[in-house]
Amino acid sequence: MNLPDLKEAKKRTDIKVTEKQVNYHFPSAFIGKKYFLRTYGCQMNVHDSEEIKKYLEMLGFTETTILEESDLVVLNTCAIRENAHDKVFGYLGRCKHLKREKPELLIAIGGCMSQEENVVEEIKTKHPYVDIVFGTHNISELPKLLLEKKDKQQIEVYSIEGDVYEGIQYSRDSKITAWVDIMYGCDKFCTYCIVPYTRGKERSRKLENIVVEVEELKQNGYKEVTLLGQNVNAYGRDLNLGYDFKDLLEKVALTGIERVRFVTSHPWNFTSEMIDVIAKYDNIMPYIHLPLQSGSDAILKLMGRRYTKEEYISLFHSIKEKIPNVSITTDIIVGFPNETEEDFLETLDVVNTCKFDSAFTFIYSPREGTPASLIKDNVTMKTKESRLRRLNELVNAYSLEANKRLVGSIVPVLILGENEKDKKRIYGYTDTMKLVNIDGGHDLIGKIVQVKIIDAKSFSLDGETEKVGEAI
Ligand code: SF4
Repeated sequence: MNLPDLKEAKKRTDIKVTEKQVNYHFPSAFIGKKYFLRTYGCQMNVHDSEEIKKYLEMLGFTETTILEESDLVVLNTCAIRENAHDKVFGYLGRCKHLKREKPELLIAIGGCMSQEENVVEEIKTKHPYVDIVFGTHNISELPKLLLEKKDKQQIEVYSIEGDVYEGIQYSRDSKITAWVDIMYGCDKFCTYCIVPYTRGKERSRKLENIVVEVEELKQNGYKEVTLLGQNVNAYGRDLNLGYDFKDLLEKVALTGIERVRFVTSHPWNFTSEMIDVIAKYDNIMPYIHLPLQSGSDAILKLMGRRYTKEEYISLFHSIKEKIPNVSITTDIIVGFPNETEEDFLETLDVVNTCKFDSAFTFIYSPREGTPASLIKDNVTMKTKESRLRRLNELVNAYSLEANKRLVGSIVPVLILGENEKDKKRIYGYTDTMKLVNIDGGHDLIGKIVQVKIIDAKSFSLDGETEKVGEAI
């Protein structure tokens, strides 16, 4: 795979970040046409899709959720796992089939996979029916690419990031909660991760622009914002303007929006001043996603995570001490190369110490192009699966325990909508990011409601609003 050399990528100083305004002066040339957008991967991609949707709708497209009805298919891809590649190309097969029946169908591919040279090469050679390829750094070029559509395949991917765009408009999926990008890219170079290569170096948006966006969202009735970045705690470091994530958090809290959240945190950049700010403001939610990845110092070193087990636990305890009722969730990878039973037991030890509210757990699989993929993967799949099973049993037991502690209590829940599987029920999230399902009360959607928790499962709570359903 032709990715930048790791040492070179880390040394790069050639990025001059400039602030640009997005140009929205383009004609509605596609009125009556329909687009189908499929999003793979993380919240960053989900939010990028909200930007893509806005451009398409301004061009005159309307959305369809039925592939066969569409005039344009956009696949917003993810590169984080090896199997993401297979999923996208598998789906592309369906699109190719549809294009045979409907030759005027346009197919566009964007997202992290488009930033990989070997993927672009594969699209060029094996998938000539794809019309447009665009990358993560030039989403705003999509209207131009569609308007100036040529007969031959158009590939417009910026290999080097450089601009931070302001004034981006979104077709947001929710009218209640909103994602707000605060920074792009990541400089951490964890050895198993492809993100620094596909999303580039850390580039922060200016604090004042983020605050204005949050103020506008508040004025438009949004109840909650989630500040978004691969590593939000590093916010502002690249700008050298004398402010960092704690200052941003404080300014966003002072807008008075009802709920402020942020993802994702890296333990390495989490300062005690940031914890103080989270503790100080009632509208900064007491919920932190703090990826652990492994409890073994040897494996953490191999992963390039830059903290030790002891440092992680110490950070965990300071957060717990300073922020009352905080809920902390994590990510854990099992079966990293060289992970011994002892290393794995270190991970279980951290889980037993921290008793996380919940954890996303994964089996390690090498991602081509990352430094870790060059280390011999010497843990058998059988061992990986068995460790995952043992880890999940423990993690789920602590999740259930944490949820059970809430039974009988009354907690604030932001009601987000109807339960997809059971339309008679509604759902929402507590301040600590726990999913609550409630019978009835559809008029409460969009409100923060006091809910009595009546039952607990590992992954959700049941609540009732009858006696305490006063909206605030
Ligand atoms: S912090 Fe590590 S895992 Fe997270 S995006 Fe950056 S390189 Fe990837």
